[in-house]
Amino acid sequence: MEVVSCCICGTTRFEERYWPINSGVLVRCRQCGLYYANPRKEEAIQEVITGQTAPELLAGKMINQQGRILEFKDQLGVIARYKKPPGKLLDVGCYEGFFLNEARHAAWSCTGVEPSRGGARFARETLGLDVREGILETSHFGAGAFDVVSMLAVLEHVPKPVETLTAVKRVLKRDGLLVISVPVIPSYLKLVRSRWRMFIGDHYFFFSDRAMQALLGKLGFRLLDKRYCVKYVDLETIVKRLNDPWQPYRLGPLGKLLKVINKTRLRKLRLKVNLFDCRMYVATPCDGD
Ligand SMILES: [Zn+2]
Repeated sequence: MEVVSCCICGTTRFEERYWPINSGVLVRCRQCGLYYANPRKEEAIQEVITGQTAPELLAGKMINQQGRILEFKDQLGVIARYKKPPGKLLDVGCYEGFFLNEARHAAWSCTGVEPSRGGARFARETLGLDVREGILETSHFGAGAFDVVSMLAVLEHVPKPVETLTAVKRVLKRDGLLVISVPVIPSYLKLVRSRWRMFIGDHYFFFSDRAMQALLGKLGFRLLDKRYCVKYVDLETIVKRLNDPWQPYRLGPLGKLLKVINKTRLRKLRLKVNLFDCRMYVATPCDGD
């Protein structure tokens, strides 16, 4: 276990202690409101990169494939409000490349960087995308090379978000867009406690609007947009998820009812769900920074 300070304001002293989570012990920074694991498991992200085979990880991503594509289209719609394609888009932590695949359909010129060998290989070989295996900090992209840099469900995994976002700013154009989605602490945290779905093994950071503003401000970004990420999920997927070994929820009679519904055509019914625990932020570099 590794003791860390708040990655945004550098303080260690002013924090509340909550309870153990999979990546360490949950604490809250009194200065900026960031929730993070401290002390934390040092190797958490490495476990994820090396511990699961590519087919296993991919199978997990494919469970709600149509729903994920709808979510990506929503996110591309938000990006297009601020910057219209064509242009160059870099997805940091693109994994298997399905977001880039949708971005390419929307006329963006797409590049990805991904530390997982299996994910990067799938993106290149199966989807034919330009994806480099590795992390952004050592990827040698040119300064100001991209119009848009996206980091979707990535920042909560990286050990040093400030360093990663500094590297993002370098490769982003002066009028470029930074697009982030991250878990945010929901109002119902104290009800679900350590069972919150975002407390999975390699998540180190859990944000709030205030903490995200502080992080973006520190790095010289101005926030343009913030909104909840909405999921699209069919009943069949919900039933499959209930069978996951890591699934912490016990739905009792509701779970049984879902299993009955799963045997009917209703299983294809797609729901639009807002769990109020994931936010999308759009920002741009500030003038004079
Ligand atoms: Zn802080």
